[in-house]
Amino acid sequence: MKEFALIDKKNLFEPTIIWRECLRTIKENVTLMTYNTWFTPIKPLELENSILKVQLPSRFFWEWIDEHYNTLISKTIQDVLGAEAKLAYVISEENENDQVPKIEPVTLPVISEDVNKPKQQFESYLNSRYTFESFIKGEGNQLARAAASAISDNPGGTSFNPFFVYGGVGLGKTHLIQAIGNKILQNFPDKKVIYLSADIFTVEFVESIQSNTVNEFSNFYRKMDVLIIDDIQFLIGKEKTQDHFFHIFNQLHQARKQIILTSDKPPKDLKGLDERLISRFQWGLTADIQPPDLETRIAILKRKTGDYGMSVSNDILEYIANNITSNIRELEGCLIKLLANASLNSKEINLELAKKTVKEIATDRKVNVSIESITKIVCNYFKIDENKIRDKTRKKEVVLARQISMYLSKELTKSSLKTIGLHFGGRDHSTVIHACSAIENDKESDMLLKDTLETLKNNIEISCS
Ligand code: ADP
Ligand code: MG
Repeated sequence: MKEFALIDKKNLFEPTIIWRECLRTIKENVTLMTYNTWFTPIKPLELENSILKVQLPSRFFWEWIDEHYNTLISKTIQDVLGAEAKLAYVISEENENDQVPKIEPVTLPVISEDVNKPKQQFESYLNSRYTFESFIKGEGNQLARAAASAISDNPGGTSFNPFFVYGGVGLGKTHLIQAIGNKILQNFPDKKVIYLSADIFTVEFVESIQSNTVNEFSNFYRKMDVLIIDDIQFLIGKEKTQDHFFHIFNQLHQARKQIILTSDKPPKDLKGLDERLISRFQWGLTADIQPPDLETRIAILKRKTGDYGMSVSNDILEYIANNITSNIRELEGCLIKLLANASLNSKEINLELAKKTVKEIATDRKVNVSIESITKIVCNYFKIDENKIRDKTRKKEVVLARQISMYLSKELTKSSLKTIGLHFGGRDHSTVIHACSAIENDKESDMLLKDTLETLKNNIEISCS
């Protein structure tokens, strides 16, 4: 094993930190049941030369993971560690000969009726790392944080019900609302608290329709004391799910149970969401989270370097804080990348390496976003079939969606005009230039277009981060 003077406890921490980063992305891309069944049992062992070695409980496990989640895992590890990164599997020795699949069927979480068993009979899906202690206070999150803390002491009993937090990507919404959940469980261990994102809620709802268990689905959520739903904007356009959520919301609210929600924008701007829901979201407290100021960014970096067991000088932290300004997730990502860059190349952490890493973060931002993902999100937004955008249709709404997709591809990816044209049914690069300038012009005078572009960018950022 190599030695790195700058990084304490490196061998112990590094694989764990890297794997934890991976899990975060994975968790956002699979259902809760899948995550728990297949990903939580994986143990990170060591990291060498961009290869993260992990241990799986059995051979069957390995085959299943390899068959179903290979792409997701490869992509995730590359996002975290760089293009050459790979995952290597070892199978836990005691089970090496275990050939018998012993996998429980995937079902909805159920609350046990057995009163003799200890309190929390179901998974809350809260990540224990999201706490108030690890949440740095700043001007941008003052109100939201104060309200969150009041709710934790008296869930359902304050006028902050529902508590609706909104703000841009990577600003700490998920962290804050999970901190509330964790704190409530600490204060009131008997309360039933559940956290999930609105798209997982939708997936579970659809699955319950398919398996004829809609009643079980609704009853499960109606029994909660605290229902925390992240990224509620994902309910937009899903009328049936909204309708079910509406009834669950009413029942919980009437019973004075705490409801906590987040979104990328304030309730009134959630176009495409049922008006009844929008008005209910405003019954309690709506609080926004703004991007952190410089001092807060430095404080966050200091705290995280401590958490990761890194020692980094102030001028380097200030450099990073001055150059990564609008997203706390990126601040964190930068530190992790810096740690990886230093240890993979056995270099020390200095300003030069920090500059290189900040540059890489800016490139990653573009590499992560693909023309395909942009097209998908734009088509989804306009409810247009993706194929239409590639063929010759000159229908007004298709033309607009196509032009917007081209414009966003130019802005958010590193692709050339020629490549962009090819993706849209082999169109010429001059067509792409025309589309980009048309959108560029129109957005100055057309507020609706400007707003649409912002929403789309946000959705793209969320799905690609
Ligand atoms: P959002 O849900 O708004 O997109 P997250 O809650 O996922 O953002 O935050 C992104 C990352 O930044 C998380 O790892 C989170 O722990 C961290 N983070 C955000 N805000 C803070 C804060 N105020 N103090 C410490 N860490 C923070
Ligand atoms: Mg979030």
